[in-house]
Amino acid sequence: MQIVIFGPPGVGKGTVSDALSAKYKIPHISTGDIFRAEIKSGNSELIQYVEKGLLVPDSVVNKVIEKGLRQEAYKSGFILDGYPRTIDQAVFLENALWKLNKKIDLVINLAASDEQIIGRITQRRTCGKCGALYNLVTIKPKKKDACDKCNGPLVQRKDDEPETAGKRIDVYKEETSPLVEYYRKKKLLVDVDASKKPKEVYNSALKVINELVKKDEKQTPAQQ
Ligand code: AMP
Repeated sequence: MQIVIFGPPGVGKGTVSDALSAKYKIPHISTGDIFRAEIKSGNSELIQYVEKGLLVPDSVVNKVIEKGLRQEAYKSGFILDGYPRTIDQAVFLENALWKLNKKIDLVINLAASDEQIIGRITQRRTCGKCGALYNLVTIKPKKKDACDKCNGPLVQRKDDEPETAGKRIDVYKEETSPLVEYYRKKKLLVDVDASKKPKEVYNSALKVINELVKKDEKQTPAQQ
């Protein structure tokens, strides 16, 4: 099962992807997490894009994905979060998967209003040690500044500060949102209302995936 969790910054892609990854025991690939880890380990080239809310060039992102998809861990499927973000990336992904005899099974489009996503971005905190995600309103940590899981420090991402968050939403509208129609035309896209509480959003995503699994199970015997 290859699933793309799609949507604007701050809509909750990471939270839903984490939960689905735990449920289906398939890896969660977040290009944002990969780039933040690269920056942390000294790749200063990426700072000019990531910390300013701009997209990393397609050629760089695609290379990371191509290398990643070949890994053994992704053999029985994965959940992509934050990729693709441009039509070029989507075309690249299709070709890369085709070479591996795979395809995208489903694109879940998480939708919420600009006000909601700005609110969520500014309330988001991430554990500086294990990367766990929190929201000071909807997914409150037990202690305000420490991770429930590893007691690491909770930090605000630099690109979650209000000015950069606004830029990221503009970039999403301009460069990424055309993918909604792209995947809708391919009949791969299902909308999920992400304005609800995290648990409800997760349950809606789960329902969509289960329906797809049932449909596949029905089709498989007839096709044999
Ligand atoms: P995210 O954690 O998904 O919000 O990504 C954080 C930042 O990483 C983005 O604002 C971009 O600078 C960069 N990034 C992540 N994924 C991509 C992608 N698929 N294409 C280009 N840039 C990306």
